[in-house]
Amino acid sequence: MKVVISGGGMVGMTLGRLLQMRGMEPVIIERMPAGAYIPRGYMLGFQGYPPLEEIGVLDGVRKQGWDIAPRPDGSAVAVCVEVGKLLSALAEGLPIVHEHVVSDLVRDAGGRVVGVVATSDDGSTTTYDADLVVACDGVGSRVRGMAGLEVKIEPLAEASLTWMSPEPGGVSFAMSYLTDGSHIGTLGWPQGSAGWRTCEKVGEEAALAPGLDAIKEMWIRLLPESEKGISALTSLDQVQYREPQLLSAPEWWRPGVLIIGDSAHFFGPETGVSSGLGLGDAHALAEAIRQNPDDADAACRSYVTWRAPVIRPYEAMDPGRQRMVLAGGQQARPEERWPPGE
Ligand SMILES: Cc1cc2nc3c(=O)[nH]c(=O)nc-3n(C[C@H](O)[C@H](O)[C@H](O)COP(=O)(O)OP(=O)(O)OC[C@H]3O[C@@H](n4cnc5c(N)ncnc54)[C@H](O)[C@@H]3O)c2cc1C
Repeated sequence: MKVVISGGGMVGMTLGRLLQMRGMEPVIIERMPAGAYIPRGYMLGFQGYPPLEEIGVLDGVRKQGWDIAPRPDGSAVAVCVEVGKLLSALAEGLPIVHEHVVSDLVRDAGGRVVGVVATSDDGSTTTYDADLVVACDGVGSRVRGMAGLEVKIEPLAEASLTWMSPEPGGVSFAMSYLTDGSHIGTLGWPQGSAGWRTCEKVGEEAALAPGLDAIKEMWIRLLPESEKGISALTSLDQVQYREPQLLSAPEWWRPGVLIIGDSAHFFGPETGVSSGLGLGDAHALAEAIRQNPDDADAACRSYVTWRAPVIRPYEAMDPGRQRMVLAGGQQARPEERWPPGE
């Protein structure tokens, strides 16, 4: 089967490596130059372990990070690691067409997708034939839109405040629930640390208005484990306000094209499962293709049968969504609120 993967992020590269191991030569098209990414800490949840174990990169990545909730049998519930360590391990030995954007889908007379058009930075185009195009091009997936697959985007009722510090934190992970069910947490890895908390949806200016010292004081008071990391912040530029949105797609495929990873689902920041489930998607799809090597539609059907029971419950039960339902229930204590006095 000729497979073209749109997007060489962590899910696209994982799928590429797993298909290679099954004797295939997928074409991976990635818009960014080789090695380009935004450095950040990243929590790799256990849901992503099996495909990375099969590729042979899990142990090496784990050694470069810090375990989260290590268990007596030597495993860990998750690993906090600088994201580039995983991306570079996945890229090893994987041919990728870099600096090209999948800009169009090619269809046959019956409307089936049979290839893609990739456009390079200088405007030249190349057409790649495909029995199956797999969209691994992230939340804003262009392929998903071109395939006519709809998405449901649901803004959460709350916003989030995050920070990233060059100081390794004192712990790999700590999280605490506040009175109204919202949360505050911190991640640490050998090269840095980060923190997040839910906050009122007041816009960036109002959320940052109390200033850096007030943000540090609040964080350390509510989550003492964050002190080492957050104390090293020197500028409000290291703090970000966001309004997270959940993304789900009622359908994942059309003849000749399938969406997986962030292009198919995105969860609330509290779950920590977005990438682990995306890596699991890649694993399931590689197996579905191996079992249906001459029939892309059968591979897609098989994929949906395996993945829907995994992905759909996470979508339905996202903790951010549950809090939306309970809004108006228990109030946060005044000392927990952000911005203060809101
Ligand atoms: C700030 C932040 C923190 C996060 N922290 C965590 C965490 O701790 N744990 C966790 O599990 N998840 C986390 N996530 C989510 C996680 O990063 C994603 O789930 C994961 O990256 C999904 O991988 P993906 O390959 O599906 O998509 P992406 O990583 O978005 O990769 C998509 C790739 O496709 C390329 N692309 C896009 N359009 C095209 C096109 N038309 N043609 C060619 N290439 C294209 C992009 O350049 C990109 O490389 C976080 C997300 C953010 C934003």
